[in-house]
Amino acid sequence: MTSSSTTHTIMWFRRDLRIGDHPALNAAIEEAQSHGGAVVPVFILDPALIGGAGSKRLAYLGNSLRALDESLNNNLHVLIGDQVDVLKELLKRYNASSVHISQEFERYGVDRDKRVEAAGIKLVRTGSPYAVAPGRVVKPSDGTPYKVYTPFYRAWCVHGWREAAPTPKEIPLAKATAADRNFPDWKLPEGTEITPAGEKAALERFAYFTKNHLDQYDEARNMAGIDGTSKMSAHLKWGEIHPRTLLRGLGQTKAHDVFRKEIAWREFYADVLFNNPHTEKQYYAPRFADMRYDKPGKQFEAWKEGKTGYPFVDAAMRQMLKEGWMHNRTRMVVASFLVKDLHLEWQLGEAFFREHLIDFDLASNVHGWQWTAGCGTDASPYYRVFNPIEQGKRFDENGDYIRKYVPELRHLSGDDIHEPWTVLDGYLHDYPERIVDHALERVESLARLNEIKVQTE
Ligand SMILES: Cc1cc2nc3c(=O)[nH]c(=O)nc-3n(C[C@H](O)[C@H](O)[C@H](O)COP(=O)(O)OP(=O)(O)OC[C@H]3O[C@@H](n4cnc5c(N)ncnc54)[C@H](O)[C@@H]3O)c2cc1C
Repeated sequence: MTSSSTTHTIMWFRRDLRIGDHPALNAAIEEAQSHGGAVVPVFILDPALIGGAGSKRLAYLGNSLRALDESLNNNLHVLIGDQVDVLKELLKRYNASSVHISQEFERYGVDRDKRVEAAGIKLVRTGSPYAVAPGRVVKPSDGTPYKVYTPFYRAWCVHGWREAAPTPKEIPLAKATAADRNFPDWKLPEGTEITPAGEKAALERFAYFTKNHLDQYDEARNMAGIDGTSKMSAHLKWGEIHPRTLLRGLGQTKAHDVFRKEIAWREFYADVLFNNPHTEKQYYAPRFADMRYDKPGKQFEAWKEGKTGYPFVDAAMRQMLKEGWMHNRTRMVVASFLVKDLHLEWQLGEAFFREHLIDFDLASNVHGWQWTAGCGTDASPYYRVFNPIEQGKRFDENGDYIRKYVPELRHLSGDDIHEPWTVLDGYLHDYPERIVDHALERVESLARLNEIKVQTE
C-alpha cells in the first residue's frame, strides 16, 4: 500500500496498544485517507522506560506488542532509538507530515512530547488514556483541582465522558520491512507466570468478569483468595482497553457503582499527580518528610522476599514476585507493613512495586503508597495502621490465598494459618519467624507520628 508520492500518516503507539475505541488511530486513518495515503503504525522502544521496568513487565509489553501487531496485519514498526531520530526518519521515508498520538499527562511523557515538538515534528493529540483527562474536573466555585476523592468522584460523574470511538472497519497500512520489525525477545524469569496481554485478552477477560463477577463486585473485591476483581489493571496500563469501554455498560446497582468508583480512583490519582507532579517522589503532605524513619536493612530484604513471618503479608509479596500482580487489599496491607511496622519510607516500597508490577501505573502506585502511608490524599481523620493478622482473618478467612503462595504453611487449617506461632506444628516446614512484633511497632509508629504532630502544631 506504500508509494513514495502519496503522503502517509504516522500513528505513534505508546500507552494505547489497541485498535478499538482509539480516537487517535481514527484521526490518523482519516488524515491518511484524505490524501490517498496509509497509516504507518510505530512503537519506539524507549531506553529510559525500559531501563526501569522489571522482567515481568517487559515480557508483558513484548506480548502486548505482538498482539497489536497481529491486529495490524504484521505491519507494526518496532524501532529502537531516540524518538526524534526515529520519527524524523519515518516522516522522511513515508513522505508524512504529522504524527498522531494519544495525549500523555505524566511528566516524563509530557516532556518527551515537548522535546519531539521542539525538534520540528508535528504531533496531533486526540484522546487520552482516561475517561476524563486529568485537569478537566475542577471545583465549579473557583476552578481549582479537587484534593479529596469523594467530591472529585461526584464532579467526575457530572462532567461525564464521550461515547466510545468506533472501531475502524479497515485500516490502510504502510507495509513494514524486515528492518522495521525489531520485536524484543524479553523472556519471563523461571517460576513466574503473567496474564495474557493484548486487546483481545482484555476484552475476553472483561466479558468474563462482567458475566461472572461484576454483580457481586462490592463484596467480592476485598477477598484476596477469590477471583473477584476485573484484573483490568495491566490492560489499562498499556491501553489495551479504554476505561470508557469498562464504564459503558454499568448500571446503578451498588456493585456497579463500586466498580465505577474504582475506575474513578485511577482517574483521581492521575489528576492529583498531574496537578502535583512533585509527588512522584515527594510527600503529598510535606510534614511527613520530617517523620523519623529507619534505614533499609535486613527487614526490608525479608519484606521483599515475602519472609516477614506474617502469612498474609508474605503471601502477597510472593504473589507479586510470581505473577507481577497483587490483590488491592494486600497491596494496602504490605504497604502499611513497610511504612508502619518497619518504619521505612514509602518510596522504597513504591520502587519495588514499580520493578515487579506488570500493571505499574505511576499515579496509582505513587498515590496508592502515599494514601496507605498516611501522607497522601486521605480524607480519613485517623492514622490507619493495618493489622496484618486481622486483615488476613477477615479477607482470607479460610486461608486459601496464603496456602496458594506460601507452601510452608499449606498443612495448616484456616484457623491456624494466620498465626502459625500459636500451634505446635506451625514451623514444621521452616516458615520464617516474625521479624517484628506488630503490636509494639504499631505503638512505635503512632509515637513517631506524634512527634511530627507536636512539631507542626
Ligand atoms: C500501594 C498500592 C499500589 C498500587 N499500585 C498500582 C499500580 O501501580 N497500578 C495500578 O493500576 N493500580 C495500583 N494500585 C491500585 C489497585 O491495587 C489496582 O488497580 C488493582 O488491584 C488492580 O486489580 P484489578 O484490575 O482487578 O482491580 P479492580 O478492583 O477490578 O478495579 C478496576 C480498575 O479500577 C482501578 N482501580 C481499582 N482500585 C484502585 C485504586 N485503589 N487506585 C487506583 N486505581 C484503582 C484500576 O484501574 C483497576 O484495574 C495500587 C494500590 C495500592 C494500595
